[in-house]
Amino acid sequence: MRVLVGCEESGVVRDAFRARGHMAWSCDLVPARNGGPHLQMDVKQAIRDYDWDIIILHPDCTALAVSGSFYYGTNKPNNFKRVEAVEWTTDLWNMACAKARVGVALENPLSVVFQHLAHADVQMIHPWQFGHPEKKATGLALYSLPRLAETANVYREMQILPKHLRERNRIISPSKNRKRDRSVTYSGIAAAFAAQWGLPTMSAHAACSPSSANMWLACPASVTLTKDVPRPSSRYAKEGTAAHQVAEMTLKGDIFLPDKITVEGDEYIVSPGMCRALNPYVTHVQSLMGPYTEMVLEKRIKVPNTFNMVWGTLDCGAFTKGELHVVDLKFGKGVAVDPASPQLRFYALGLADLLEVTIPDAVVHLTICQPRIGGEAIRTRATTLGELWQWLDFEVDPALRKIKAGDTTENAGAHCRWCVRQTECKAFAAKHQTHASAVFDDLP
Ligand code: SF4
Repeated sequence: MRVLVGCEESGVVRDAFRARGHMAWSCDLVPARNGGPHLQMDVKQAIRDYDWDIIILHPDCTALAVSGSFYYGTNKPNNFKRVEAVEWTTDLWNMACAKARVGVALENPLSVVFQHLAHADVQMIHPWQFGHPEKKATGLALYSLPRLAETANVYREMQILPKHLRERNRIISPSKNRKRDRSVTYSGIAAAFAAQWGLPTMSAHAACSPSSANMWLACPASVTLTKDVPRPSSRYAKEGTAAHQVAEMTLKGDIFLPDKITVEGDEYIVSPGMCRALNPYVTHVQSLMGPYTEMVLEKRIKVPNTFNMVWGTLDCGAFTKGELHVVDLKFGKGVAVDPASPQLRFYALGLADLLEVTIPDAVVHLTICQPRIGGEAIRTRATTLGELWQWLDFEVDPALRKIKAGDTTENAGAHCRWCVRQTECKAFAAKHQTHASAVFDDLP
């Protein structure tokens, strides 16, 4: 995997990933302490300029740490530095989440920035959970990466040590390198990053994404012949990402929405119009919430029995009153999507697996919310889990086996609309040739 470790000059995390065979690079404005593969540049530039699977960020915590509130808190003369740091770090996070193909982690101590990071799952860890008998509360904001599991708990051993050893990091003597030395990642934590996030089973991108299923179910070449073809995000896709972030923040009760959201370097205004358009989706999801509802928002979903080839991000999934609900927000103004499309079926199968729902008769509600295409914003189809299993086994499985076997058969159809191979595909050219001939034949 291609791994970027941003704002790291020690190379500890980079080398942990390298030791496991990944193509990892550290990046900082200053040179790497011990040399090695290092990009001496602005981390935002490194994100913009290169492709990454995992991005791990260690932004400066000076103005962000809760412990610094005496100097940087509200009404303090240096508060503007905290405001600037939050803005810079939030922008960095958004860029990384939009760019990384597998996931993002941002490390900071107890920090005021975590509450500003959209889609972040925040976890606190200590070095004593990873073989170092020391205390140091370390926060990890995670996007699409699993929480870090402890690897060697030495809490009891730590407790019998004198305080100056247990809290060595906090009481390092003042020196010109104090800040630098305190911020180095513990080797046990770095090893856990590499071991748990660099798992070979986590492919860089879904070989067969649910959103393009109409295409790869019909045409294996759309996957087998496009493995290394870049797929740049369109402006509409980026706007959709921004809208999803706003919807999630609203649903999570964030009453102070940002004025704008940056997605892959482009800014999108969080306008009253955007919020109005999101209202049907937000209202529908809120109607599913309740004390007995299991709900997930913006959740990475892996579809079972698909050879680890199908996964994607579910906007909203809920299990309530014995029924499953999958809700997908489409913010674009394009074509109306059928709620029973393969994309939502895959999400439902992944959701059932995640929530361990195994009742074949369980009703599954597939809901599309398309507020900007005119007509009804919310459309729902109902099916059962048993029907979805049947579809998976008899329609999806054969298509996946062909792709897994490297089948390069081209099969043109309406689905070609979204294919990146159009310009070189013989089947696509032939189909259009036939269509054009038919049109000209009809002319008087
Ligand atoms: S253009 Fe159409 S036929 Fe050709 S590879 Fe893509 S989806 Fe298949």
